[in-house]
Amino acid sequence: MEMQNRLALLTKTMQAANADLAAIGPTANMRYLLDYAPHPDERLCLLLLSRHAARIVVPSLNAEEMAAHTDIELYRWTDAEGPQEALNQAMIGMSPVKKLAFDGEMRADFLAPVLAAAEPQETIPVERLLAPIRARKSATEIEALAVASAQADRAMQAAVQACLPGVTEMDVAWAAETAFRLDGAEQVTFTLVASGPNGAYPHHHSSRRQLRYGDAIIIDIGASLNGYHSDITRMVFLGDPPEEILRTYEAVLEANERGRAAIRPGVAIQEIDRITRGTLENAGYGKYFIHRTGHGIGVEVHEPPWIMAGNEQLLEPGMVFSVEPGVYIPGKFGIRIEDIVVVTETGCHTLTSSSHQLVVKR
Ligand code: ZN
Ligand code: ZN
Repeated sequence: MEMQNRLALLTKTMQAANADLAAIGPTANMRYLLDYAPHPDERLCLLLLSRHAARIVVPSLNAEEMAAHTDIELYRWTDAEGPQEALNQAMIGMSPVKKLAFDGEMRADFLAPVLAAAEPQETIPVERLLAPIRARKSATEIEALAVASAQADRAMQAAVQACLPGVTEMDVAWAAETAFRLDGAEQVTFTLVASGPNGAYPHHHSSRRQLRYGDAIIIDIGASLNGYHSDITRMVFLGDPPEEILRTYEAVLEANERGRAAIRPGVAIQEIDRITRGTLENAGYGKYFIHRTGHGIGVEVHEPPWIMAGNEQLLEPGMVFSVEPGVYIPGKFGIRIEDIVVVTETGCHTLTSSSHQLVVKR
């Protein structure tokens, strides 16, 4: 029922946007609409949606699994045949296409045959239509995101425990990864451990650098569980934290807390970014906060809404996103504190529940 609602919502949005055809590959968009997407490889796989019909072009090796998830008519093709005839058949009655909404996340070599078959006069990314639908999570989705966040809290504990002098960033990342896996995560999306000066790179790749006394360590981890993602960042310090670290940590924590406290329906999204940024600017760290405040999370780890300046969209109940202010001092250290929140009718509820205190290991 939930999947039928999602498809119906997309069809309605297509009508409003005058889009004749949507072409969606085996991406998070397909997973969102069908609760299933085959392994994304080079084999052409497309959900084709006109305003009146839905069809799926599917490699025959994935057809049975697809049929177990949906009643939509399948156009199968084998490796020996190739996809062209199945695509031609599926397109009968779907044209003419004036405006095509294409999946911006699918492979370019999936888009090319669709363009050749549909010959649209105009194209738009289907994300433009799907983003507002995906941004408002249903009760089932919010529950799935809460369960995923609780799992990330447990994996965070394992990672924090693994932080010891002499241990490498990759060792700590592995502790988080195994904790997620043993806890039933389908996919560990990222385990980012950035110690000491590496912390100044917001998207550092965990390296063979050994942790040592005097290191501030950023642990940013996430996985997917039942198709929904988690994402959390906490900090460990080895040894006695100097004044500079404590002061920065307090400022980042205040930005995180004030940002979350301002969340309620009707507030413009950019206001949340203005508050976290303003807090860090007042503390003298404005120029070291070099990214947006946060991102939506759901069937993808990064998805709209983007919590940033210029986003005038209003917060709505059911939106789920990260609040993750950070300070990055080149050559020295980085500090980030990240939570996942859900907008409620009256405010917001924080799904991540790990302690916000700096973990100090002497
Ligand atoms: Zn994040
Ligand atoms: Zn993160």
